[in-house]
Amino acid sequence: MGEVYAGGCACGAIRYEISGEPIFQNHCQCRDCQRKSGTGHGSYLTFPRAGVKVGGNATHWDIVADSGNVKTRSFCPTCGSPVYLTFSAAPEVFVIHAASLDNPKRFKPHAVTYSVRAYAWDSMDPALTKFEKMPH
Ligand SMILES: [Zn+2]
Ligand SMILES: [Zn+2]
Repeated sequence: MGEVYAGGCACGAIRYEISGEPIFQNHCQCRDCQRKSGTGHGSYLTFPRAGVKVGGNATHWDIVADSGNVKTRSFCPTCGSPVYLTFSAAPEVFVIHAASLDNPKRFKPHAVTYSVRAYAWDSMDPALTKFEKMPH
């Protein structure tokens, strides 16, 4: 097993450590990720929940995704950084924001989701697999 994926929010109040490897790494250009990120997309790594340890008290906010599933966004109440996401319909996965990693170079995106919502000013690497919505 490789080195743990460690990271957290900007002020350090929320910290996580994940053992195991990501099962999906993507940029998401859905409207919700745009609003939350303040720019054209969010960037994520998805892990099996089993290897995840989280410390600190994140604030949680539930939103109904385009798919109809409830996603819970977890962010730091002090510094406001978005840190992780969980899904009521898929409790076995845990999603982190790529730049919350202590070493964001470990993010190796291979896909773009919700490319149908992309803006011309938010261009993506054409080598990435594009999904108009979220693959299942
Ligand atoms: Zn913080
Ligand atoms: Zn999204």
